[in-house]
Amino acid sequence: MIQLIRGFKDILPGEVELWQKIEREARGLFENFGFREVRIPIMEKTELFKRSIGEDTDIVEKEMYTFTDRGGDQVTLRPEATASIVRAYIQHKLYSPDPVQRLYVIGPMFRRERPQKGRYRQFYQIDAEIFGVRSPLADAQLIYLLLLLLERLKVVGAQTHINSLGCQACRPDFRAALQKLLASVGDRLCEDCARRKDRNPLRVLDCKVPACREALSDAPSIVDYLCGDCRKDFDELQAALTSLGITYILDKRLVRGLDYYTRATFEIQTGELGAQSAVAGGGRYDKLVKELGGPDLPATGFAIGFDRLAEIVGLQAGDYQPRPEVFIAALGERSRALAFEWCCRLGREGLRVEMELGDKGLKSQMKSADRLGAAQVLMIGDKELEEKVAILRNMQTKEQIPVPFGTLMETVRRLTKGH
Ligand code: AMP
Repeated sequence: MIQLIRGFKDILPGEVELWQKIEREARGLFENFGFREVRIPIMEKTELFKRSIGEDTDIVEKEMYTFTDRGGDQVTLRPEATASIVRAYIQHKLYSPDPVQRLYVIGPMFRRERPQKGRYRQFYQIDAEIFGVRSPLADAQLIYLLLLLLERLKVVGAQTHINSLGCQACRPDFRAALQKLLASVGDRLCEDCARRKDRNPLRVLDCKVPACREALSDAPSIVDYLCGDCRKDFDELQAALTSLGITYILDKRLVRGLDYYTRATFEIQTGELGAQSAVAGGGRYDKLVKELGGPDLPATGFAIGFDRLAEIVGLQAGDYQPRPEVFIAALGERSRALAFEWCCRLGREGLRVEMELGDKGLKSQMKSADRLGAAQVLMIGDKELEEKVAILRNMQTKEQIPVPFGTLMETVRRLTKGH
């Protein structure tokens, strides 16, 4: 038997309803906050990710699904959505006439990481981006939206970590100070960090290897190096978060794995996820639109790990598992034929209806109705057929009422609305 690829997974009925519920909540919130959906391709030219995410990042160095297609083009399954959204924003001139655009994407991403709990090779993200707004209020709004979604999904223990990565004016000074420290502790760093320390030193800061954390316990904080503008923005972000009642942790080690970030950066972590503690992350990337060939416009955004979110929501199955509103139990061939007609017509009227299409006894049909958690059962047998009156049983109160065939559609519809 051919099994699915390692690190990939199926989302089956039972779980998929939870995914749909999360997606509905996210879409609803996005609409409330003025975001519009864009659907972008799953595959792009490799160059797009190399140029945006950065050649010296883990993603580009070792995690992308890249191949040469039959026409000889280098293509890559998208490892994240921001690069493609920026490409679409530029390519379709979405900045004209109004550069301010709030866009979102929900879909699968691909990274060839070592599979483990909370880390898959095909995983899903909910991405939101705000283009054209320079104010840190946009960052605050994104964080607020993110926390609101988690709250609606009853996630507990979410912690907001924030940091600033500075800009092209102030980051080099910090980089130099950090590199000085890295040079002195070089032999204590893990293999990956030893390699990163020259090319992408900021990444060493968020290495999880204990020896590296220990070696960097006295690392300088980038916040001490911020230039006037970055400082002002960072203060403004914090003031906005405080006014929204959001408590946050200033995390000097928060750097994130992609090169394009500038200024505000944030992550939502929860203890529920074990080692993979980040459920969402994001930040500002003011230079990326220009770097990819567009106008000089700022942008900020976040990505939520959908798979991780689904693991930590506090919802109960009853909050999202659909149950039939009506189960039709029919005895005998003629009753079944009529019941089938009702089943299809009630479905067309927008009710959730199910019935047994094969020849089963009443007991077995009632068992199915129970197993499915049907709210009501509509019963019809020879006697009912003769009298032209079916019986509708409320499965909770056990109350049964006669329903004449002539008014069956309206009666069932009216009684179902009450559930
Ligand atoms: P990133 O695009 O790396 O900033 O990641 C944003 C979020 O996506 C993370 O906080 C995770 O929740 C999620 N994520 C990233 N990589 C994976 C993965 N391999 N498997 C599952 N979720 C992931």
